[in-house]
Amino acid sequence: MTAVIRSLRHALHPTEPPHPGQCRETLCGETIDLGKPTAIDWLSPTCDTCWLTATATGDRLHPPRDRTR
Ligand SMILES: [Zn+2]
Repeated sequence: MTAVIRSLRHALHPTEPPHPGQCRETLCGETIDLGKPTAIDWLSPTCDTCWLTATATGDRLHPPRDRTR
């Protein structure tokens, strides 16, 4: 699942389906208030950090959730 922030497409933690109005964290650590996806979203370039994180984890459905901040 992806979401667009500042014209970059980011990947979301796949813990639950996204709903408009939610505040979700992206794989690269950004926070986004979800809106309704638009067709233009899919034309945006992909965030490199999110892409690398997603590919590095093998796109597992349950990434580690015990990170400390
Ligand atoms: Zn990102």
